[in-house]
Amino acid sequence: MSEAKVEDGKVVIFHYTLKNKEGEVLDSSDGTDPMPYLHGYNNIVPGLEEEMQGRKVGDSFEVEVVPEKGYGVRDKPVTNLPRAQFAEIPDLQPGMQLFTETPDGDLIPFFVSEITEEEVVIDFNHPLSDVTLCFAIEIVNIRDANEEEVAHGHPHGLDGTSGHGH
Ligand code: ZN
Repeated sequence: MSEAKVEDGKVVIFHYTLKNKEGEVLDSSDGTDPMPYLHGYNNIVPGLEEEMQGRKVGDSFEVEVVPEKGYGVRDKPVTNLPRAQFAEIPDLQPGMQLFTETPDGDLIPFFVSEITEEEVVIDFNHPLSDVTLCFAIEIVNIRDANEEEVAHGHPHGLDGTSGHGH
């Protein structure tokens, strides 16, 4: 392997396990492909991206990320909407992430937190807001991003060739 280091414009491919402070596993790449991201483009939470800077292939480390540098604190609205407004959405279920569009065309994410007969409770906070994130990371590969990836601000798969229709 080369002496490639994690820096802006590199695609970093890593395995991860994410736990909360209580040690519960929240997410993991175990048993799946490692995850690629484009360094310097906010593809991952800021607290993890900072810790990635300057790392090399083969590095393993643990990092604890406070909510402010993770998925944020719970400061956004929770609201109830009539269920009829979701009639178009197939297979609506709690935990689902959906988007609403502002008049300017920005997409704002929200999460379905509860579904009753009449209403859907939606939450604009990320499900992992207020959670201190404990990551165990292993860096598997570091490569240069290609032009298209830099233009899009995200990686196209592990080798940069898996376009995704845009
Ligand atoms: Zn793309």
